[in-house]
Amino acid sequence: MSLDFIFNDEEDIDDFPVIKFDDEYYMRMALRQAEIAESNGEVPIGAVAVKEGRIIARAYNQVEMLKDATAHAEILAITQAEAAIENWRLEGVTIYVTKEPCAMCAGAMVNCRVDRVVFGLPDPRSGGAGGALDITGFPGMLHQVEVTGGVLEAESREIIQRFFKNVRESRKNEK
Ligand SMILES: [Zn+2]
Repeated sequence: MSLDFIFNDEEDIDDFPVIKFDDEYYMRMALRQAEIAESNGEVPIGAVAVKEGRIIARAYNQVEMLKDATAHAEILAITQAEAAIENWRLEGVTIYVTKEPCAMCAGAMVNCRVDRVVFGLPDPRSGGAGGALDITGFPGMLHQVEVTGGVLEAESREIIQRFFKNVRESRKNEK
C-alpha cells in the first residue's frame, strides 16, 4: 500500500518517529497490560510473549477476576502463547513482564522452555528469577532461562506503588 496519502513529501517521512523493536518497546506493551489490570482492580502486572519480533500473547494479572491464585500475567501469557504456536515448547520465545516472576511463574517458564525472560521491577523478597530464588538459572533444572532485569524498572515500580497506595488509602477511608 502506498503511503503517499499520508506523506506528501520526503520531509514528512523523515519526521516520522522511528520505532525501535527493542526490550523497552515490548516492556511498554507489557506495561499497557498492567494498566488494564490496574483499571480492573487487580495488582497491576502485565506480560507479553514475543517470538521472532511478533507479539504472540498479551495478558495481565487476573487473580481476583478469575478467583484463581495461579492467574498471574505470565501464566496466562504462557498458556496463550502455547495455543498460538500450538506447542507447549516455547523455544525462541521471550516473555516480557513488568515485575520479576514469582517462583511459580519462573518454574512455568523453565517447564515451557522459553529462551528468555525480561522483567521490569526486581523482587528481592519473592522473585524467582534470581531475586530471592534462582529458579530460572538453577543448574539442576531441565532448562535454564536467560534473564534480563530492570527494563523500564521505574515505570513498572510506579504503577505497582500507586496501586498499593490507593488500596491503603481506601482502607483508611473505610475505617
Ligand atoms: Zn507469578
